[in-house]
Amino acid sequence: MRYVSTRGDATPRRFCEILLEGLAPDGGLYLPERYPQVDVGTLARWRRLPYAELASEILSLFIDDIPAADLRALCERTYTRERFGTDAIVPLRPLEPGLWIEALSNGPTLAFKDMAMQLLGGLFEYELGRRGERLNILGATSGDTGSAAEYAMRGKAGVQVFMLSPHGRMSPFQQAQMYSLPDANIHNIAIEGVFDDCQDIVKAVSSDLDFKRRYRIGSVNSINWARLLAQVVYYFAGWFQATSANDERVSFAVPSGNFGNVCAGHIARMMGLPIGRLLLATNENDVLDEFFRTGRYRVRAAAETHETSSPSMDISKASNFERFVFDLLGRDGTRTRELFGTGLSREGGFVLDAAAHARCRGFGFVSGRSTHADRLATIRDTWQRFGTMIDPHTADGLKVARERRLVDERVVVLETALPVKFSSTLVEALGQEPPRPAALAGIESLPRRCEVLPPDVARVKALIAAHDRR
Ligand SMILES: *Cc1c(COP(=O)(O)O)cnc(C)c1O
Repeated sequence: MRYVSTRGDATPRRFCEILLEGLAPDGGLYLPERYPQVDVGTLARWRRLPYAELASEILSLFIDDIPAADLRALCERTYTRERFGTDAIVPLRPLEPGLWIEALSNGPTLAFKDMAMQLLGGLFEYELGRRGERLNILGATSGDTGSAAEYAMRGKAGVQVFMLSPHGRMSPFQQAQMYSLPDANIHNIAIEGVFDDCQDIVKAVSSDLDFKRRYRIGSVNSINWARLLAQVVYYFAGWFQATSANDERVSFAVPSGNFGNVCAGHIARMMGLPIGRLLLATNENDVLDEFFRTGRYRVRAAAETHETSSPSMDISKASNFERFVFDLLGRDGTRTRELFGTGLSREGGFVLDAAAHARCRGFGFVSGRSTHADRLATIRDTWQRFGTMIDPHTADGLKVARERRLVDERVVVLETALPVKFSSTLVEALGQEPPRPAALAGIESLPRRCEVLPPDVARVKALIAAHDRR
């Protein structure tokens, strides 16, 4: 399997060459040159596999430069009951007939990002060890990515993590989770700005190729291909649990921000997993809902980006979206470069022609939007009728699932975080605190490690350089 860039650079690269990277050199994102196809016989064979084995089967279709036995051992060390709480790893719980919640948030940081990040920690350690190299991971987070990355990389030999987050904008619990880690290889940097300022700094540093090479800058943002790949696995695992025959269709409702989670669903569907539709849910930051409704992709200014009660979906542009558009345009790298290069920088977006926009449905995509009032109503209703607490992001997904679901359509809603991470919204909706896992009792009162910086690329570079010399 070889990987190519969405912006036309067709230099074939292998998995381990792109594992430690973010953007491709031409500014595009990596995708496999083709999607491996999974037939009914393969699904039948995979149906009874434990999660770790399923992961190793799927990953091995995309990775041919890590020996199969090593890959399998990595998956088995990662997807354990100890780390994820159950043998099923991503158990489904039924809500009402034909509607389930898939639990993706029982890893160390209680959000679905652990599903990919825990594997990435193992992959990075493996590959860096094999090469005898070190890596400085630079990332941007509005909450869940940062803690998931830090918990995946803490204490890993050869790895330093520099994590940018918008100063004062994460929930107290999220701040405590990240800033309280004592590991010397973890560096928290709070940027005086919004999430997109953080993300722009990461992009600026990564596109300075000299700096990137000299300081061995790597990425764990959702544009990292290995993360997307790891997420493909739980679409299969969820689909197996919701079906009993290998030709049944299931749809997925996905709370979306940077389009990473749902992009993995798109890839699973392209591989031939019988996914009916992908119901994409946004919050008030509805860049993606607007696109799927109208064909117009319009990046929002920072001032237009709302701070919402599902903060991990507060985006002004969706960094993984380019991957889908590349497929939508029949993998036309030149056109993708026009839209995402000059289109975004000069016009702040683009409008697809009607024919291209109409093809989104053929790819299974439907979208919807959820507001603060919807979120509260959905959390309340789910608690009253089913006795189950859901987090605000999952509530956005469930709201859109209910609204868009067709008669007899079976829908799995992806649970992207546990309610305890966003307790103030739960208290607002239900008048009570969500339960907290014992391991996380009192983390708000632990000592914190964090440096506050203005949104200045040079300052961030200087900080990385200073730590690299040590
Ligand atoms: C990251 C995140 C999302 C959005 O996922 P994307 O892959 O960025 O679309 C949704 N909910 C939660 C809780 C998250 O942490």
